[in-house]
Order: sequence, then C-alpha cells, then structure tokens
Amino acid sequence: MRTRYAPSPSGTLHIGGARTALFSYLFAKHHEGQFVLRVEDTDRARLVEGSESALMRSLRLLGIHWDEGPDLEGPLGPYRQSERLALHQQYAEQLLKGGQAYRCYCTPEELKQAREARMAQKLPPRYMGTCRNRLAEDPIHTSGQPYVIRLKVPLDGVTVVDDLIRGHVTFENSLLDDFVIMKADHTPTYNFAAVIDDWGMQISHVTRAEEHLSNTPKQILVYQALGFDLPQFAHIPMVLAPDRSKLSKRHGATAVEEYLDQGILPQALVNYLLLLGWSAPDGREFMTVADAVPLFTLERVQHTAAVYDQKKLEWMNAQYLKALPVTEIVAAVTPFVEKLGISWGQGPTLDAGVALARERAHTLVDLAQAMKFLWERPQAFDPKGVQKHFTPLEVPIRLEALAEALERSDTAAWTHDGIMEVFDAVAKNLDIKRAELIHPCRLALTGVTVGPGLFELVQVLGPQETVARLRQVATNLREGALKGSQS
Ligand code: GLU
Repeated sequence: MRTRYAPSPSGTLHIGGARTALFSYLFAKHHEGQFVLRVEDTDRARLVEGSESALMRSLRLLGIHWDEGPDLEGPLGPYRQSERLALHQQYAEQLLKGGQAYRCYCTPEELKQAREARMAQKLPPRYMGTCRNRLAEDPIHTSGQPYVIRLKVPLDGVTVVDDLIRGHVTFENSLLDDFVIMKADHTPTYNFAAVIDDWGMQISHVTRAEEHLSNTPKQILVYQALGFDLPQFAHIPMVLAPDRSKLSKRHGATAVEEYLDQGILPQALVNYLLLLGWSAPDGREFMTVADAVPLFTLERVQHTAAVYDQKKLEWMNAQYLKALPVTEIVAAVTPFVEKLGISWGQGPTLDAGVALARERAHTLVDLAQAMKFLWERPQAFDPKGVQKHFTPLEVPIRLEALAEALERSDTAAWTHDGIMEVFDAVAKNLDIKRAELIHPCRLALTGVTVGPGLFELVQVLGPQETVARLRQVATNLREGALKGSQS
C-alpha cells in the first residue's frame, strides 16, 4: 500500500488539507505501507514563496511524517511536480502518437464565442470539437500556431469511479468534454500530471479531498488512454464551517500555523482533526497519531461532511494542557510568555506557574496571560471587583492584618494548608468570614476576581511578594489612589 498527500504550495496548510494528509498517512501506516509527499507546483502562477517549507513544517509539527518527498527523495522521485515536466511531456507525446489526444489550435476568443453560443441554447459548455478530427497532414500542424493538447474523450458511455468511501459514482462521458491535458506553455494540467505522477510513484490508493471527486473520471480516462492500471480511490468528505459553508478565512483561523499561533497544541489539533469525520472502534477520544495507526480504517470514515467545532477544539486543547507533563507545557508556553513581554527570570519558576494555571486555561495564550501576575504586579484592577471587594472601608486594615500574619508565619508552613490556617486565624481575629479576606486578597494580588485556588496562588507567588502586594494595595486604598481604578 502506498498513499500520498499532494498539496499545491500556494499558501499555508489548511486544516482540511491537514486532515486529508492525516487520513492518508494513517491509512498507509495501518497497512504498513508508505506515505509519499508530492508537491504539486506545476501551476507557477499560484506559487507562493516559502509555502513548500511552511507546509512541510506544519505537517511535521502535527506528527505526519512522509517516507518519500521533495526533501527526502526516494526511488520514485523527483517528488516536486515541476521537476517531472519531461515525463509529462513524454506521455503527452505518446497519447498524440496513439491518437488518444490531439493538438487544439482554437484561440481563447473562438472558444469563448462557441461557449456563449451553447449557453444561449441552454446547452452545457463543452469544446466544439473543431480540432478533434484534424488530419495529420493539416498544414496548421506546421504553422507554428500555439496549441493545447486535449484528450479524446469517448462521446458516449460512462466512466465509473469505484470509490472506497463513496461507492460507485457514475459520470456521463458526454459531459466530461475533451479536456486539456497540456497547456499552451507545454506544462501539464492537474488532471494529467496527477495521473502520471500517481502512477509513476506507484500510488496504490489515491486518498484525497472529496472536492476532487469530479476530477477522478477525467483522471481515469487518462489512465485508460495510457494503458495504466487504475489505483483505488478514496474521497474524504469535506470539513465544513458550522453554517455548512466551505470553511474559510471568514470563519476565523483555517491554517495549521494560525491555530498554533493562537495557542492550540499540535497534539490537541491533530487529535481533534482525527475525530473530524472518523471515530475509533472503541469510541475513545484521546489519542496520538501513533495510537491511531492500529485503529484507523476507511470504513469508519463518516460519509457525510464533517462540521468544524471551535469549542470542541478548545475543549480538547484544555484537556491536553491539563494532562501533558509540565515540562512539555513549559516548552510550549514559553514563546507565548515571551510574546507578552513577561520577564520570568526572577521569582516563581515557569514550572510552578504552569502547574498553578493550566487547570483553567483553554489555550497557551490563556495560560500565559493567566500566569502573568506571577512576575508582574497588576497595573489595573477589575473595576467590578474594585466596586465589590475594595469598597468596604475596612479592606486596607484587613489586607494589612493579613500581610502581617503572613509575614510572621513560618515559611516552612508556606504550604496550602499552612496558608489557609493563617487566613482562618486572621478572619477569626477580625471576626469576619474567610471569604471577606479571600476576595480582596485575590484582587490585590492578581488584579482580577477569578483564577486558580487562592492558597496555591499565594504559595507560588511566595511570602515576600505576597506581603509586598497586599501592603501596596492597602496603602493605595488608604490614599484613595485606587478609587475608581478603571483598568
Ligand atoms: N494539488 C491538488 C490539491 O492541492 C491535489 C489533489 C489530489 O490529491 O489529487 O488540491
């Protein structure tokens, strides 16, 4: 078994493409086969500088590794389509010689007129056939006029795509038209190059996005014209946006890189993609790419389009943020912490920050943001919180009492329970509820009213910094400096 992923380097890796690559990879690996990466860069006009390496980087980050590809080479290369041009031209010549294809000299203007005439008669657009039956002796062949090469498609009958996911899909040949296989600049069209390359790379199973299903009968006709054996085809249903339209930029992030920049972990993203239209036989939801290899079969690929769900992706990410080893999260979150300009060299360690804040974070961006207070004193306080927790006149006294008690406490007792005892003692002394200390304290230390458990938070922040912050806020409140502090 050999499968491939054949992206055009015309942009970044779209999550739909990543999922196609993932399914193709898993299908090959489940059968101990090879997975090939072929870069379809024939259409030079659509080429985007740097796209090929960006695509490869995204695939690797997701854990989708190819056995042969432009950067690895292999016995059946080259794996960059533009480097296979001589092969495409050679097979086009073969079809011309055999009479299965012909040169077409019709100008774009003539084609347009013919198309419009057919449309006026409410007929489907198709090539009018002017050049289909030109004789070999026709002087036009030696006139030097530009030409394209068209495949001579049977005028009647049907071409059947026997698809592993969709079953039999029948296409009328009369609707397929004599499509162009080589353009006027002597480069191949997608439908021609894909066949030469899939066959040349001995791809046994062409697994690709469903949007290509309508290309497949054309490709089958090319296989047949060249006398090549057909591969198996499997068209993977699309990923749609929640409104059931094609998932595009207007729905938010669509590229793998964008998701990673938004703080989604690659492990979570690939796990989510796996569940977009496929499910494990035992119903499990959490798995790595390696875990999915023994489980993945095409039978379990859903036949209808999958609908993208951002909430579920974020939920999945949150589970990974909670479950992965702290050191892994630290490595992943470090660039996000740096992006926020936090200097975390002094004070609590990043490990302690991650352990403290990861329970509540959905993305690495959330996580970095939620840890910021550990290294930076709050510059602003949540106005609603100020209203609620900083207005009682006794708050400065309470915060100072707390600061003093914490300062006096044995740092060996600077544990969750030790800290809680200090809070309880102060509350008792002041004859107030614990909550009346907790809320203003949290706001004073972090600037916000929600976050990790307060005693853990105080523990990580450390005695000195906690005491200093409490005192600073108490002083500011006394001096009225915090009044109306609107973030
Ligand atoms: N280059 C095509 C694309 O990116 C490949 C389609 C195929 O897999 O055959 O859509």
